Amino acid sequence: MESPTEALFREDAYLKSCDAVVTAIDEKGIRLDRTVFYPTGGGQPGDVGRLRAADGTVVEIRDTVKGAMPGEIVHVPAEGAATLVPGTAVTAELDWERRHRLMRMHTCLHLLSSIVSGEVTGGQVSDGKGRLDFNLPDGSPDKEKITEELNRLITEDHPTGTRWITDDEMAARPELVRTMSVKPPMGQGRVRLLEIDGVDLQPCGGTHVARTGEIGAVECVKIENKGKMNRRFNLALKVE
Ligand SMILES: [Zn+2]
Repeated sequence: MESPTEALFREDAYLKSCDAVVTAIDEKGIRLDRTVFYPTGGGQPGDVGRLRAADGTVVEIRDTVKGAMPGEIVHVPAEGAATLVPGTAVTAELDWERRHRLMRMHTCLHLLSSIVSGEVTGGQVSDGKGRLDFNLPDGSPDKEKITEELNRLITEDHPTGTRWITDDEMAARPELVRTMSVKPPMGQGRVRLLEIDGVDLQPCGGTHVARTGEIGAVECVKIENKGKMNRRFNLALKVE
């Protein structure tokens, strides 16, 4: 199926910029034919950065969101940003330092979900921090122990990779789905899986680092009670 926006980050999360052409603009934002900007989704915030046109015009992008059409990505300009017109060739540049921190934490949440048993009921990545909620009928684990296990998996430096399976294969393997709150993105014929070698395999459309060692040291700073069985695990990166 042809997507309105070619999502280059799905094949290579390390692309910091790309050349693209403005295809449409409306009050929601700017559409490009291709982009390195990840749109808000799956608990990962949208990217920020800038679009540079050949004539020197720079449009700061303060957020990236999904559009109304499946696969459509909308770049939200900062207030008062310069305007572009459809057909303009631009270079789309990420705020890479921020995105890389999001990739590190996002990958770390996969590690967390491999350590903690129980259904994942929600989660959010933010800059330098992240959290996952689990349904845990049998009380709370110890945050020092979680910190230790996470850092062990990080130090072991497991490679990560993506695999695609068909919707039918996905439907036949419900054990792959750790969360009931975020359904795997089915309906486009295939589903993207993120694999952390020997640690975790689950459907995910987000951006991840190539090896767990790249996450760097982390800490489980707090485990909160959020209801009778719900436990919220809050993590933080220890290094910028
Ligand atoms: Zn992921």
